[in-house]
Amino acid sequence: MFSEALPTVQHSHIPTLLFSDYHTHPQGHRVQRYTQALLQPWAESARRLGLKDIAFTDHDRYHAGIDFGEIDRLRERNSDLRIRAGIELDNDPVHSAAGRKWIEKHWDKLDFVLGSVHFLNRDDQMFDSVPAGAAQFEHQNIDAIYADYFRRVREMAGAGLVGCLAHLDLVKIHGHRPTGDIATLINETLEFIRARDLAIELSTAGWRKPVNELYPSDAIIKLAIEKQIPFTTAADAHSHVQLGENFPSLAQKIADLGIRQICMFEKHKRAALPLQLQIEL
Ligand SMILES: [Zn+2]
Ligand SMILES: [Zn+2]
Repeated sequence: MFSEALPTVQHSHIPTLLFSDYHTHPQGHRVQRYTQALLQPWAESARRLGLKDIAFTDHDRYHAGIDFGEIDRLRERNSDLRIRAGIELDNDPVHSAAGRKWIEKHWDKLDFVLGSVHFLNRDDQMFDSVPAGAAQFEHQNIDAIYADYFRRVREMAGAGLVGCLAHLDLVKIHGHRPTGDIATLINETLEFIRARDLAIELSTAGWRKPVNELYPSDAIIKLAIEKQIPFTTAADAHSHVQLGENFPSLAQKIADLGIRQICMFEKHKRAALPLQLQIEL
């Protein structure tokens, strides 16, 4: 009779409450100087979603728009939130050398640096622009592109400055899949990330792209869990209305995969916070 008392609670299937979005672009895809008018809507979106911790991570080529004084003012006006000053360092062959210099110069004011691979062989076009970037995959050996992409990820991870790698398997964005087994390639890349003590992000952006899949894949996440690589949560929002996009689905995924903590960054120092189980009233 005891077996009839209550249904077994599957803890791994209870969604958790996500508290942070660590990949946002207040400037979008151009230089727009930080002002309260530009930034305050992001704080309001965070509050509305129940997020407690957000990081601004505009692309390094738009660093001229970043104003640390405005971020400080925003923090004063929104003392219930943690607001991180960050940047997304790309492997941009034209601009990122200057981006690196800017990061070094402002290191003490920054909390968080994301590292990203957006460029393959072409200097003038991000391969992840949709739909134009897909042309870079036409009539190409997809396995070779994957190998080249993950080599660039390791290069980014090894070059210093970054605390976390963004959208780790972005190369799948247009839906191109390798024909061969890439387990070794992935394993080597994650080993490299682990050895450098970096985090990786769980990004819902992949769900709004042609591939329609979380970045990174479940297989990569499972291997990262095994290697105890820490995670951030992110939507890669280019507008404040995109902040925390698809986080309920991400929370479900996190619960299903058994992830119990998410990390935050302050002045480049990482700390892991346990996720609270969501109490449904
Ligand atoms: Zn990116
Ligand atoms: Zn981004």
